[in-house]
Amino acid sequence: MSSTRPTRNPRPSSAFLTVDPEREGKQTGFLMIPHSPDDDAWGVTRVPIAIIKNGSGPTAILEGGNHGDEYEGPITICDMIRDLDPGRVQGRLILMPANNVHAVIAGKRTSPIDGLNFNRTFPGDPRGTITQQISAFVTDHILPIGDAFLDLHSGGSSLDIIPSAIVEPTDDPALHKRNVAAVQAFDAPMTVVISNLGEPRTATAAACRAGLITVGTEMAGGGTVSLEALRVCRRGVANVLDHLEIVARDTPEPRRGDGVVLELPGTSAYVYASSDGVFEPFHANGEQVSAGQLAGRIHCTWDPTRTPDLLHYAADGILYGRRQPGRVRPGNCCLIVAAPYRGALS
Ligand code: CA
Repeated sequence: MSSTRPTRNPRPSSAFLTVDPEREGKQTGFLMIPHSPDDDAWGVTRVPIAIIKNGSGPTAILEGGNHGDEYEGPITICDMIRDLDPGRVQGRLILMPANNVHAVIAGKRTSPIDGLNFNRTFPGDPRGTITQQISAFVTDHILPIGDAFLDLHSGGSSLDIIPSAIVEPTDDPALHKRNVAAVQAFDAPMTVVISNLGEPRTATAAACRAGLITVGTEMAGGGTVSLEALRVCRRGVANVLDHLEIVARDTPEPRRGDGVVLELPGTSAYVYASSDGVFEPFHANGEQVSAGQLAGRIHCTWDPTRTPDLLHYAADGILYGRRQPGRVRPGNCCLIVAAPYRGALS
């Protein structure tokens, strides 16, 4: 499944696992990162990890808690750790529900230990801060033993996004086809190609560079657990593991999505706040919008003499996501528009 993988060359690190990825059966333990703060000279940060291995077959890595305020993916992964019978697995699952564990414990997007956004630290640094050491271990020791990577995000506290499965762009046309096939197998209400404006420091970008079949998600958000998004996430993960022939579905699942693939059309996808105030959106997620159309207003409610700032869309498409908190400051992402995907699918 992975013939063009780069040579494995891990950087020196003091991190270690309490589970053996090569052992058959189910193990639950931790990635241990030596951590020496004020109150704990020789302690560790513990990042939970489970291995479920049964015979030969591909390895899928499932990541949750990349951001600590996104919950549907971690719930799905934790359920699998507790409930999945290893006899149903053909190959191996590496289940990591809380990768930026300090952010997860805090219920925050970024780590309170070092202030870092895990998803802007890849390939990490094994001699860096705790967050950088976690991403370094994933880069050097987890991705190289995987064939597929599922990175289960939601919109986080600041965004409400239409539940969707995400394609990470790659320059490798063969991998792109495999990624699109796996993301479409997820069968989310919407499939979107998201480049994060070419950002190379994300987990999914690192997984693509390592040659893994890569599937992302954005499951609602707003800092809550969405019933509908949780259903979509559980079903989609089961669909992808069936597609990868690692965990067969008990019964065939009829497709629900329409197969349409969208993308975020570069910088024109985003509508940013232009001033300090309260953002009033003009449309709901899923509505059709067009470039130049009024998107909303920013009110300065503590100075009613100030005329509200007007915001406009910069792209034609559908409203894919919206800022959740009403209060905004200049530069906040208020709205995201998705447009039909212009690239190749097969
Ligand atoms: Ca996220």
